[in-house]
Amino acid sequence: MRWREPLAAAERWLLPAECLACQQPAPGADDPLVCDVCRARWRAIAAPICPTCGEHLALTIACRICPDWPPDFGPVRSAVRLDDSVRRLLHRFKYQGWPRLAHSFAPPMTRLVASWDDADLVPIPLAPKRLRQRGYNQSEQLANALGAFAGLPVRPARLARVRETGTQTRLTPERRLANLAQAFRAAASSRPAILVDDVFTTGATLLSAASELLDRGAERVMAVTFARAELPLRLD
Ligand SMILES: [Zn+2]
Ligand SMILES: [Zn+2]
Repeated sequence: MRWREPLAAAERWLLPAECLACQQPAPGADDPLVCDVCRARWRAIAAPICPTCGEHLALTIACRICPDWPPDFGPVRSAVRLDDSVRRLLHRFKYQGWPRLAHSFAPPMTRLVASWDDADLVPIPLAPKRLRQRGYNQSEQLANALGAFAGLPVRPARLARVRETGTQTRLTPERRLANLAQAFRAAASSRPAILVDDVFTTGATLLSAASELLDRGAERVMAVTFARAELPLRLD
């Protein structure tokens, strides 16, 4: 019957039957969505990391990601390395109606922002069309959860997405940057900002948003993401 569908959705929202990463029927002690085994497998970005962009630096002398970033952008940090399990969780977070996963992702992010000066958390905005399709902005969910844990204000109104940029995954880094130019519009403010996003891939989205906030007066822009993709073999 039709009425069962929304009811089932509401029940799923309240009480998942299994870990959203591994499907084992074992809710975590502190986390009803992700089991303790899956959480324990989350890997921080291995040291040493670039002090600016947060990428692992083992095989390179100079960082290949951030040499052209503006001096007032950074540090950028990510909580966990993107692997298959984390990718599955992010997919559920963004596309399968589990915005509550923000509360699973926020604790390891909270540690990363603990030493940063008081700043506004600014989620990476979605284009209005995508927001309508999804019903929520996953980055704003993350920012709200992180704000609650870290005691920082969340100010989504500081940044709007004014242009649909389409899917970025098949573009080279330069094309991504060109594609993202003027994608964001910031409100004028000198307050430091911490951009919040679910995943760091090349940093192009964060760089574009940070540049706009800096252009509109922000004293400094930092950024934090839950996950970080493996460093691409070629960035040039
Ligand atoms: Zn699990
Ligand atoms: Zn770097």
